[in-house]
Amino acid sequence: MRYNNFVNRVFWGLGMEFSRRDILRFAGSGFLAGLGSRFLFAEDALLPPADGRPNVHFRREARWYTKSKDGSVSCGLCPLHCTVAPGSRGACGVRENRGGVYYSLTWGSPCAVHVDPIEKKPLFHFRPGSRVYSFAAAGCNMSCKFCQNWDISQAAPDEMPSRALPPSALVPLVKSRKIDIIAFTYSEPTVSSEYVLDSASLARSEGIDTVTISNGFIEEAPLADLLRVLSAVKVDLKSFDDGFYRDICSARLKPVLDTLTRLAAAGTWFEIVYLVIPSLNDDMKMIASMSAWILKNLGASVPLHFTRFHPAYRLKNLPATPLSTLSRARQTALAEGLRFVYTGNVPGASGEDTFCPSCGKVLVERHEYHIMNVRLKNVSRNKKEASCEYCGAPVPGIW
Ligand code: SF4
Repeated sequence: MRYNNFVNRVFWGLGMEFSRRDILRFAGSGFLAGLGSRFLFAEDALLPPADGRPNVHFRREARWYTKSKDGSVSCGLCPLHCTVAPGSRGACGVRENRGGVYYSLTWGSPCAVHVDPIEKKPLFHFRPGSRVYSFAAAGCNMSCKFCQNWDISQAAPDEMPSRALPPSALVPLVKSRKIDIIAFTYSEPTVSSEYVLDSASLARSEGIDTVTISNGFIEEAPLADLLRVLSAVKVDLKSFDDGFYRDICSARLKPVLDTLTRLAAAGTWFEIVYLVIPSLNDDMKMIASMSAWILKNLGASVPLHFTRFHPAYRLKNLPATPLSTLSRARQTALAEGLRFVYTGNVPGASGEDTFCPSCGKVLVERHEYHIMNVRLKNVSRNKKEASCEYCGAPVPGIW
């Protein structure tokens, strides 16, 4: 069982008692939010596991696949395009061929739930200061050697304690807590796209926004379906080198770039996070090339976050990112013409703040995940920009 760290850290654990560590943690992030998460399913009626298997609560046929005469299926959800024989699963481990019909094993079965600030995702230009109800199901279509949440992203659904939470229960739950943003996060929501799609559709009808925190490794058709109901997306751009994607993540760069251009074309609000890993993707020439690509293909206003790597999973041999490297990355991207470039996982650094691209004044002052000050005017949920309180320059975002 590989889940213990994350589950103990985030979700239901193996009992309902609170440890001293829990109390301290919840005190830091909002005691009531933590309390609610912990007791979330204290009284829920667990559905019998599908096929008698623990933690697989629903039989839900997958979308985006085709059947073959020999009983195998071809998954069209992500660029890996798995061909899956009867009785087998795709590479992500959460989609299974049962007798020639393809099923999602994670639909309605989150293994982690928590209330976070939106800044933690991070989404800096999307409703700053909001609380977000965050959900994760097991699985990922990449296997990044540096994954911070490997204990759920690399787990099979059967291995992870999960609860039955179909969209018809998820959305009322979020509403009952007076929260109006849902995030599918922590692991990779792409591989559970049916669950995301159904939840986000229902949530939208109730006036609740849904955002995803994704690696962007998804095919065009499912992405288009999701973008009809998502309000914002954060994409991890892990490198600008295809060799890195192949060697470190078992994936490829181009499909992720394609996703970014599709997000821009669709007009969906999105932000990019680049985790800077010493010696692997911290070359400033590559960061300059990537920034130039973003400027040319996505525009100057896409927020770009350079975040600090901490040794994890299979890359415990590397040091944490020096603060000077993060600062150089930020300066490099700004010099290429990007207007909103941040540093992350560095509490107290000025790289957390939003500066007016025209007059240079601080417009949104942040400290860790807290909003200290906002200097914007003409704020409207229905517009994709507000104005600098000092000079009136437009500042893109859903503020
Ligand atoms: S979503 Fe999973 S099963 Fe489908 S192609 Fe990607 S890795 Fe394979």
